[in-house]
Amino acid sequence: MPSRLHDRRNPNIQWFDPPVALENGRARSSPWFFDPEEGRSLEPELWSVELGLALDRVASSRVGRAIVDCVRRRTTIYATHGGAYTDPDPFVDQAGVEIPNARLEAAMRDATTIGADALIGIDLIEPAVAQSGAEVWAPYLALLHELVHAVNITWGNYRVRAMFAPTEANRVGAPSPEEEMALLIDNIHRSERGLWIRRRYDSAGPLLRPGTIPRNRSMGIDVTRSEARVVSRCERRVPILAARLAALDRRTCPYNPFRDRGGGASAWP
Ligand SMILES: [Zn+2]
Repeated sequence: MPSRLHDRRNPNIQWFDPPVALENGRARSSPWFFDPEEGRSLEPELWSVELGLALDRVASSRVGRAIVDCVRRRTTIYATHGGAYTDPDPFVDQAGVEIPNARLEAAMRDATTIGADALIGIDLIEPAVAQSGAEVWAPYLALLHELVHAVNITWGNYRVRAMFAPTEANRVGAPSPEEEMALLIDNIHRSERGLWIRRRYDSAGPLLRPGTIPRNRSMGIDVTRSEARVVSRCERRVPILAARLAALDRRTCPYNPFRDRGGGASAWP
């Protein structure tokens, strides 16, 4: 039996050691941690150590610490290989029993209203990518992004089913209001750390250099309207996170619409 571990800062965040993977809703010990073809491997007994390090790295920034602190219901992190995802968690405890559709529906409904438990799948094997000495992508950056979704799920602010029309998706660089918020907070964290800033949710198109403040000119999109929408919604639905982010000063976090646009957001369109 794998043992259950909890994040020491926020015990709502849990995982299993050795790692557990989800396949079609079934929990199973993960078989694919040795990948000789790609020349990368992560032994099962080291997965939990790597995840602990990734969580420490997330929480060692002010933005990341705010996100970790704001996960307010049980969030279980599973191992996956290739990509990352976050969903409302319909399981009463560790996954592995057949879940009726009604419970899946209830978990999704609660995630959009009163809050639900969350589950995250994360790939810790994928190597980090850097350009000119600054990170473009790393597993802990993916974890931070997924934890933003977990915050939304656990607060009842999850909106992955609401999709933007194609022109709006193209304009803001994200397919849904949910990803628009995750992308914005991801970029505030990148600003704190001096990493490359993302223009889009997908990896298409060039990134903005470390230290850049996203603007219409540099983004080619109406970033101001997108920021206003995210900040205003977060202030109403996850006020604790909005307040924590708004408190980060210019020296800590040069790009920070929660601080720069906070307070007056309700008057915006
Ligand atoms: Zn996302």
